[in-house]
Amino acid sequence: MPRLQPYTLLLLLIISLPALANRFANVEINATPLADNLYMLTGSGGNMAALVADNEVILIDAQYAELADKINAKLAELSESKALGTLINTHMHGDHVNGNSALMPKRIIAHANVLKRLTADQAFPRKGLPTETFTSQLSLNLNGQKLRLEYLPPSHTDGDIIVWFEDKNVVHMGDMMFEGRFPFIDLNNGGSVRGYIANVAYVIANIDDQTKVIPGHGQLTDKAGLQRFHQMMVRTLAQVELMQAKGMSNEQIVEAGLGEEWQQWHWNFITEERWINTLLQAEPLTK
Ligand SMILES: [Zn+2]
Repeated sequence: MPRLQPYTLLLLLIISLPALANRFANVEINATPLADNLYMLTGSGGNMAALVADNEVILIDAQYAELADKINAKLAELSESKALGTLINTHMHGDHVNGNSALMPKRIIAHANVLKRLTADQAFPRKGLPTETFTSQLSLNLNGQKLRLEYLPPSHTDGDIIVWFEDKNVVHMGDMMFEGRFPFIDLNNGGSVRGYIANVAYVIANIDDQTKVIPGHGQLTDKAGLQRFHQMMVRTLAQVELMQAKGMSNEQIVEAGLGEEWQQWHWNFITEERWINTLLQAEPLTK
């Protein structure tokens, strides 16, 4: 390859910049009505929920800053142009909080560990930091709309909450639910394999067959979907533990794989191999 002259490099840079910016150009924000005044919103990144109160809109999760104008346009359309008042973050991952400051909400609520971890991230815009935090539960009654934010013990990270829309029988699970695919468990940010499985079981025990379940990623689901997800985790963990008990090395377990039954849960982010490597890091059972 011939050596590129500086102006050629500059030209290449100029040509490639719009391509980077365009990653979100074709993303549309779609709204699915779930109950009176409540919608699930999809675009790129973690699924959002929008709740329209008498004089404000409440949004759960923020996707990316590049989508903020489109998200605000959709909220205006759904709410007869009410302002975004309260933004709630289910946890600290970029595909749920990157849009925080660009959306310009009046306040941002999250678990205390989300504020701690985002504050430590020097690249995160200070204007997007949560303005109100809690550690256990927070019930909100906002101009006729009720919701309850509940912290569950370390699972996906150490700062995950779920949002109950109790009078509508809907729950937003954030990334404590990946519909139809192996979940990401962020062990570097306080996650826990057994905590994750236990939290999913907890939600199953607290919903009914009519409950609508908004997952962090994937399609709207329900109790049966959560039960399939839970079974997948329990059974693949048992498989891995059985192989460990037989004395197989981690490499041999990855090589052996989980078998045909679980292939459909594999996806580009959490491949079968990555899921096995997560399961291999499950905490030992306390006796
Ligand atoms: Zn996440």
